[in-house]
Amino acid sequence: MVLLKKDYFVMPRPGEETDFGFRRVPLADKQALVDDIFHSVARRYDLMNDLMSGGLHRAWKSALVTAVNPPRSERAFALLDLAGGTGDIAFRVIGAGGAGTGATVADINAEMLAVGRARAAERGLDDAVGFVEANAEALPFADRSYDAVTIAFGIRNVPRIAAALGEAHRVLRPGGRFLCLEFSTVDVPGLDALYDLYSFNVIPALGRSVAGDAEAYRYLVESIRRFPKPRAFAAMMTAAGLRRVGARPLTGGIVALHSGWRL
Ligand code: SAM
Repeated sequence: MVLLKKDYFVMPRPGEETDFGFRRVPLADKQALVDDIFHSVARRYDLMNDLMSGGLHRAWKSALVTAVNPPRSERAFALLDLAGGTGDIAFRVIGAGGAGTGATVADINAEMLAVGRARAAERGLDDAVGFVEANAEALPFADRSYDAVTIAFGIRNVPRIAAALGEAHRVLRPGGRFLCLEFSTVDVPGLDALYDLYSFNVIPALGRSVAGDAEAYRYLVESIRRFPKPRAFAAMMTAAGLRRVGARPLTGGIVALHSGWRL
């Protein structure tokens, strides 16, 4: 049997485990558990983002779009937004760029993509954004085909983060930038205790009343606590081949914007 690079990425070793929130689960089971969460919340996902973050996710996403910095001209610029769900990042980058800016939203979850397609149609962006059902660990795209690869609040859900980072690097053109927005570690005394109180109490309660699923939002809070600290994540980005790697904390470290380049 010929072993493709992609097969190598996705084959779990027997007995391998990973975090699913605060639980340890077999690595091979995590994706299905994550998929159940996003099947369950897809329709209420965008509303929940606004409610949970008090609208702050918009400012965090704006910081990401500013860093993507698509050309205002007609010059072609191709964005790949991984775990792009309902299309938020793609819509914002297209709005910020000129006529040559286009985006591909790749997500493993058909329900999230369906919401995204409907939103793109409402905005008249069907031609500028493509939606592709794909696993970030094994992308169906050619080497060196994108000017920028983004992933917002997605990477901590991917079971094999190293594989996804390797794929992001592979599909980036030399000179292209990888940007990752992810919840991080609050480092402001006082804010950390408040943040814990809010996360473990208010968010699951909101999840129950708005999205009808407290467990999904408990997972969200727990998975944030299990995500590698910025330094450890920077080391993973470097191991994937990205260079000039760094991170910028936003809102006291609630979120970090991680960046790396394919040189
Ligand atoms: N990026 C969007 C945003 O910021 O609004 C959506 C983020 S949502 C919290 C996480 C997304 O990651 C979900 O749409 C989920 O389906 C997707 N996801 C989880 N595992 C994935 C994988 N292995 N490959 C691609 N997408 C994945």
